[in-house]
Amino acid sequence: MDQTDIHNRLSKRTFIFLIIGLLTLLMGSLVALANENRVTVLASTLNVRYGPGLSHEILTQVHEDEHLHVLGEDNQWYKVRLSNNDIGWVASWLVENEEVTVDNRATGRITGNKVNVRQFSTTESPILGTVHSGEEYEILYSENNWIQILFNNRVAWIHSDYVERLEGTPTALASSDSEGKQIRIGMGPTNLRQGPGTDTPIVTTVSDVTEYSVIEETDDWYGIRLTDGTLAYVASWLAEIVESNDSSTVQSAEPADTAAPQVQQASSLAEATIVIDAGHGGHDPGAVAKTGFTESEVALSTSLRLAEILERAGANVILTRSDDSFVTLNDRVYYAHRARADAFISIHYDALEIPNTMSGTTTYYYSESERNLADTINTKLTQQGPLKNNGVRHGNYFVLRNNAQPSILLELGYLDNDHDITIVNTANYQQTVAEAIYHGLSAYFAP
Ligand SMILES: [Zn+2]
Repeated sequence: MDQTDIHNRLSKRTFIFLIIGLLTLLMGSLVALANENRVTVLASTLNVRYGPGLSHEILTQVHEDEHLHVLGEDNQWYKVRLSNNDIGWVASWLVENEEVTVDNRATGRITGNKVNVRQFSTTESPILGTVHSGEEYEILYSENNWIQILFNNRVAWIHSDYVERLEGTPTALASSDSEGKQIRIGMGPTNLRQGPGTDTPIVTTVSDVTEYSVIEETDDWYGIRLTDGTLAYVASWLAEIVESNDSSTVQSAEPADTAAPQVQQASSLAEATIVIDAGHGGHDPGAVAKTGFTESEVALSTSLRLAEILERAGANVILTRSDDSFVTLNDRVYYAHRARADAFISIHYDALEIPNTMSGTTTYYYSESERNLADTINTKLTQQGPLKNNGVRHGNYFVLRNNAQPSILLELGYLDNDHDITIVNTANYQQTVAEAIYHGLSAYFAP
């Protein structure tokens, strides 16, 4: 699959900056350049968050034309240092940068046995948890005898006496994240791969439900050890976490609130990453209208219109396909996970065995937590759409069921309905539903 299909123009810029960063590193002049990495805020008010994505809490806000110092980049978010030396993250597409390179990162390896992680750089401040000998964390900043790290997605401090400073990024996520974690896989045929990605070779396929201990977590993949000793990887969205009854494996020093998933509405559509998934494509046309056009064609043209509207509104848009190519269902979900999408919108058109049975649009969701996204968008489709609306329904679709990001699937008309096919294959209809979806997303992400 062509990588340009799923990256927008901004990620291409980011890629170029990464290349520049690597070249600079080779020339050995990165340290000098790192001090020049400044970006300018474009939005009138921009949220600075504790981590790279809308799911992280807001640390503070900055305002238009303010300058921020860039320390690093992840998932199209910049890690920045503020004027008061706080560290946070901003959406890269909402700031203007001239010559950002990735900072020379340093890693700290923990040398103490059970080291306290604190909220501030003083022994008086609250303990957020503990880290253990051998674990590696990226160093964000150091001050006097204290080192600032990202701990459970928030900035925290450890005393420098218990940290050995290394060059480069941590080799893997800190082991504390996966310590004692058990997963269950094989509910359906599940591929185990040589590396953390669907582009790596398959080691074996598990068809029976089996439990494994997680020895490593990389992006959205779990590293596990097979019985013959082979290291293999499984996508986290194909695995269930086995709840442990053994409380000793739970880090008791860690407050419960930092471990709980952070669920928070985004404050604006512009800050959001939206994955638009045009159904079918390539050798899979989907439904075919008797007048000759296919579901894959109209799903794509509707998706491209939606992408254009959302990009104009400032959102970070990723298309699972932008031409008539085939994309597996697994990859579609993977793009949502990799981008840590704030919403995944799958666009389809319908057909039934018996023509002219049904007409109009239907909105599907899988988890109750996605009901609000489905309702909000469906309300706008009802208000603005020219076809009748069949409401919001639970739908057991692969791209929803296996998707950990908020996801819905829209069926935007019946290609076996004589009335619907005179309407859905028009620019006017597709533009109208794309605008309805956009208005729904705006309402969903409104503060
Ligand atoms: Zn379809």
